[in-house]
Amino acid sequence: MEATCDRILYDIGHPVPLDVTALLDSQGLRLQVGGPGFPRNIRGLLHLSNTDAVVAVRDDLPEAAQRFTICHEVGHFALVEHRRVLLRQCSEMDLSPAARGQWERAANFMAAALLFRGELDASIGHYELSMASVSRFADHAMAGLEASFRRFVERNPRPVWGVVCEPAVLAEGGPMAAGVRYLVRSASARWVPPPVTIRVEAGGRYVQPVANLFNREAEANWMKVGATTCEVYTTGRTVFGLIS
Ligand SMILES: [Zn+2]
Repeated sequence: MEATCDRILYDIGHPVPLDVTALLDSQGLRLQVGGPGFPRNIRGLLHLSNTDAVVAVRDDLPEAAQRFTICHEVGHFALVEHRRVLLRQCSEMDLSPAARGQWERAANFMAAALLFRGELDASIGHYELSMASVSRFADHAMAGLEASFRRFVERNPRPVWGVVCEPAVLAEGGPMAAGVRYLVRSASARWVPPPVTIRVEAGGRYVQPVANLFNREAEANWMKVGATTCEVYTTGRTVFGLIS
């Protein structure tokens, strides 16, 4: 899949940040932003017929989310097997839930590759390991914080882990982490993160012992003081933990 993205990016000259207009043009896709009757429950769609190919995106998303959504739909289009299904059926809604999960993960993988492959990925090793770096990386890519956080962790040449959690609101003290949505790591990181100490940025409103971000067994380890730090950052909607 990355080879497909590399070919597309090569064709449009690897612009940084990604030029989504050039991307759509290179694929012969038309963009439709919002419009009457656009379903509120979805971020974007790819509509294919024998005569037309349209990427539609909700008009009330932040620009970074629109860019990711457009790349996600281009991802479906660029994957030949996805394109075949879309031409044959009404939509991917006709797939089984398991197949749809797989399908969406593939398109998200394509979207991230389109947004970050090349210069941006190569720059990750030059940033210090911090959420401030993730934020700068996101600005350079014109990408959202969560997509950038994942990429920053997954493609980092150093051992680093990232946890993305749902926030839960405390009566006082602001958001804290509730459930873990997922854990990501770099290629050189062991699967289970080491025990950590917690570093909370001055501006961060968060906090709780990050211990229960993981299971009970891990929790015991987390309570120990380790050499590792976990920087916690919350946006209000999402809690990020960068472990290094
Ligand atoms: Zn999709």
